[in-house]
Amino acid sequence: MSGKINIRRDTNDQFYRYKMPRLQGKIEGKGNGIKTVLPNIVEVSRALSRPPAYATKYFGSELGAQTKIEEKNDKYIVNGAHEVAKLQDLLYNFIDKFVLCGDCKNPETDLIITKEQTIVRHCMACGKRTDVDMKHRLSTFIVKNPPPKDKKGGQHASASATSAAGANDSSSDGHDNADNDEFDMLASDTAMLALNGAAAAAAADADDDGWEVDLDMSAEAVAARQKKLGVNTSLLKDDDDEDDARSGDKDPYDELGDFISANKSASDRAIFDKASELDLEKKHRALVVVVMCLFDNPATIVGDIAKRDKLLMAFGDSDKHQRAVIGGFERVIEADMDKLLAKTPIIFKALFDEEIVDEDAFVEWGKKPSKKYVDKDVAKQIHKAAQPFLRWLEEADEESEDEE
Ligand SMILES: [Zn+2]
Repeated sequence: MSGKINIRRDTNDQFYRYKMPRLQGKIEGKGNGIKTVLPNIVEVSRALSRPPAYATKYFGSELGAQTKIEEKNDKYIVNGAHEVAKLQDLLYNFIDKFVLCGDCKNPETDLIITKEQTIVRHCMACGKRTDVDMKHRLSTFIVKNPPPKDKKGGQHASASATSAAGANDSSSDGHDNADNDEFDMLASDTAMLALNGAAAAAAADADDDGWEVDLDMSAEAVAARQKKLGVNTSLLKDDDDEDDARSGDKDPYDELGDFISANKSASDRAIFDKASELDLEKKHRALVVVVMCLFDNPATIVGDIAKRDKLLMAFGDSDKHQRAVIGGFERVIEADMDKLLAKTPIIFKALFDEEIVDEDAFVEWGKKPSKKYVDKDVAKQIHKAAQPFLRWLEEADEESEDEE
């Protein structure tokens, strides 16, 4: 009876990407002291990116019952005996009113308290701001107890970003690779190595500025090469990878691409081992191959990012690595502009929520369209499509500055 259910009650689609645990309720005590404990409201609220107190207060308000909240002990209680089915129903009402975008019904929204002390839902997917019913008693509570503004911690955790709420909770975050724990360690070790090696790498790669437009690569040449090869790896060794040139041998990037394409469900570990075998385990450009080969299903792309976060961080987290991840996704978007261009903000937000690409890297990328990974026209379109996300990053920043 537990398990995950869709956040939107009006869809039964099992592939709907936004899920939450089914709400639990436990009736305790008797007589006047009878109460309903909400043992998993924290997990449910995390899936909704809302503080658990909000849904609890909403129940109390709708049921005319007192609530008891001890945040430190994760205790959320509604006085009286209440059927869990009724509470689940109320939870859906809460989601309609305080979570889903009023326009497109996407649940990736933030609650923003305006200067006029009203609450709006700011939607990541469509960028719109829709009002919240200020007459509801919960609205008063929210104005007095605004959502946390820490981007990494609370409010901005996406529906899929199960890891966002507990940094130390990575072993139970729902990822399904059996060798996950081991891989956690591997990923952080590699990150450390990448940090330690950063200075040396910077010297070795002096000819690759990592950010600037490659002026010596004409857009036509890029486009022609991209059309010729499905998953194009020829661009990957255009400057700083001379050391990879093993004449006669098969290109290691091609080999990695072939391996992943033939083993799409391979574990993070298996893919990373293959990359290591090919001496690509620290190469930022290997990430472009990984992204292009793994994220080729537009229907599941955003959820897939959460499943593969550790792999995407295992190669290193330098500016160049992060830019390569963005570049890989630029190419994925380019390959299916009809379906994916509009999803650009959600894809980027997933990369941000999973801490694969950080704010600085996105801000740098956002300064101007670059044809480093895609042709200029495509770069411009993706840049434009990403604006809601870039604005959101900026606003989240301003809000935290306001507080200081
Ligand atoms: Zn929307």
